[in-house]
Amino acid sequence: MAYPGVLERYRSYLDIPEHTKTVTLLEGDTPLIPMPRLAEELGGGFELFVKYEGLNPTGSFKDRGMTVAISEAYGRGAKAVICASTGNTSASAAAYANRAGMKAVVIIPEGKVAAGKLAGAIAYGAQVVQIRGSFDDALTLVMKISDQHPIVLVNSLNPYRLEGQKSSAFEICDVLGAAPDILCLPVGNAGNITAYWMGFRQYNERNKTGLPQILGVQAAGSAPLVLGHPVDNPETVATAIRIGKPARGEQALEAAEESKGKIIARSDEDILYMQQRLAANGVWVEPASAAGLAGLKAEIEAGTLDVQGKRIVAICTGHGMKDPDIIVKQMTTPEVVDANLQALEEVLIK
Ligand SMILES: *Cc1c(COP(=O)(O)O)cnc(C)c1O
Repeated sequence: MAYPGVLERYRSYLDIPEHTKTVTLLEGDTPLIPMPRLAEELGGGFELFVKYEGLNPTGSFKDRGMTVAISEAYGRGAKAVICASTGNTSASAAAYANRAGMKAVVIIPEGKVAAGKLAGAIAYGAQVVQIRGSFDDALTLVMKISDQHPIVLVNSLNPYRLEGQKSSAFEICDVLGAAPDILCLPVGNAGNITAYWMGFRQYNERNKTGLPQILGVQAAGSAPLVLGHPVDNPETVATAIRIGKPARGEQALEAAEESKGKIIARSDEDILYMQQRLAANGVWVEPASAAGLAGLKAEIEAGTLDVQGKRIVAICTGHGMKDPDIIVKQMTTPEVVDANLQALEEVLIK
């Protein structure tokens, strides 16, 4: 059978109403890539895989949740959806809403959304509004608007988003034959870590696939779950996790605790270093996506996580092409030489 997308593939595991009418771009089924060289770099003695979520149709894992949220809204005749976004949610909402012939409105923090994400939302045909405020302000506003107007909220407060996002946990178990020992991932609004934990638990109940320890990683300048209080002006290069007041914070902390894992924070420098190491191993991700592995590296170095003989999966949430500016800012302009062999040899051999 041709691949039907995450909703149809895992429908029997998803808690969704009868009226749901599938709207899909055949998201999911992303590769679980073995990373033996990177594992060695981090000290070795364990198996490492990257779940490359940047290969979803709009370039991030948000498509897994969006296919289900939009399918539910579409099935009950909704005409419009709205979300607050640090970028990837907006591109995904726009793509899926427009596919179903619905209107998408996205509210983003002014000047804080990576170029490839804003371009995506516009290209897919969303009405994009920038606010003079943070993601957290934007989320507060869209919650109020969707309460008072016939427009469906598709942030991860929408329970169907999490239903869809569980599918990545199912896929990992299907590919490995069991849950990994350790799962590391970035944490922003904390919907994803919540969905993974739900997914692994549910799959384990039905298929006895076991449970991973979950290592959630925030950016140091935006680490409310590590600090234990909201952060008013979150700052980080990892814009996808630049969130000071996570909507699913409590559930994220529960997921970490119940799984015998933890939530930690890493500096922008550590995150960008890991982005570079991933790319050097053939996997280019946006900065936020490297946070999980940056956290793993720190835990290994501190000796605070037992990785020997373990199987570890790192969730790389979004594609590097979403945030070209971060690379452009760090790079030196490529050399320019005359178009002749001698000039080229000189720079290649020196
Ligand atoms: C949304 C997003 C995150 C954070 O996920 P949460 O569910 O908000 O914790 C991390 N990385 C990327 C690329 C994202 O788009």
